[in-house]
Amino acid sequence: MLEFKNVSKRYQQQTVLDNISLTVEEGEFFVLVGPSGSGKTTTLKMINRLIDPSEGHIYLHQKKLSDYNIRELRQSIGYVLQQIALFPNLTVQENIELIPELKKWPRLKREERARELLALVNLEPDTYLKRKPAELSGGEQQRVGILRAIAAKPDVILMDEPFSALDPIARQQLQSLIKEIHQEIKSTIVFVTHDMKEAIALGDRICLMRNGKIVQIDTPEMIQQHPENDFVAEFFKQEQSQVEGELSGLTVADVLAFSQNPLVHQEETVSVSPDTALVDLIELIQAHRVVSVVEHRQVLGTISNDDLLHFLQLRLKGGDADE
Ligand code: ADP
Ligand code: MG
Repeated sequence: MLEFKNVSKRYQQQTVLDNISLTVEEGEFFVLVGPSGSGKTTTLKMINRLIDPSEGHIYLHQKKLSDYNIRELRQSIGYVLQQIALFPNLTVQENIELIPELKKWPRLKREERARELLALVNLEPDTYLKRKPAELSGGEQQRVGILRAIAAKPDVILMDEPFSALDPIARQQLQSLIKEIHQEIKSTIVFVTHDMKEAIALGDRICLMRNGKIVQIDTPEMIQQHPENDFVAEFFKQEQSQVEGELSGLTVADVLAFSQNPLVHQEETVSVSPDTALVDLIELIQAHRVVSVVEHRQVLGTISNDDLLHFLQLRLKGGDADE
């Protein structure tokens, strides 16, 4: 449904995209991944003609992008950026209904759509419709931003590192969410990230880029099992070690040392032992919000979602505790 044929982009002397050819299938979750400066954003922006190629052509439904009316083209494409810019003076409802309104959907249909979408991402419509962006957390704003991009049922959704500004837990939640949304609405998604783990978690296929060239396009399984060259293998390993390396070896006991409320015991919470791996704790906290740390039937303390976030933020920043 979307095809790049021998596309290059040059700025003065610098070639930032070098003879790119690729095809994205209808309904596919297609991920562009690569180090900073490899040309991912440039590639993405070409799809809604924020940037035009220096050479080559891009086709949407077999028709050249340059033959489309640019306003219509952009209305059929949803776009989500790293920092979602919700309009601060509009309510959540008005933000979500923006494009449907431009497309002249009747009022009732728009509101129905806004409610349906909020429910889909577990934001209670009656509570959230009338709120302003400033009254939402970062993760909630990002969810609304995604809803705004998909509200008018675009053919294609473009996402440029949409989760990279979020903390690890919100990021994981939104990754699961976007997978669900994709299965539900079956739009074609082109998603940019520099995080190979994220690419593997999300992509039907992954396009790995380096220095403006495509290194490999394949399914996550094939990329992992048959990396095209050392660069692919290394990039994959690095990405894995970046987060996992920092977190592996850490346990519940490490987090407990940071916990704000070590001795509050809540009857219904799930119990974990202090030597539970941190990666398992992250999953438990996502499901239960708070866990009790228990050893030899003694409660050592509790760890809440906030405690875990605080801990991860310090760890992943590489900062020290009293910063
Ligand atoms: P990525 O998104 O993979 O980090 P980009 O597509 O943003 O990479 O950029 C690829 C390269 O193109 C970078 O080296 C960047 O500096 C260069 N570049 C991007 N936009 C421009 C521009 N408007 N003028 C000159 N160089 C640019
Ligand atoms: Mg970029």
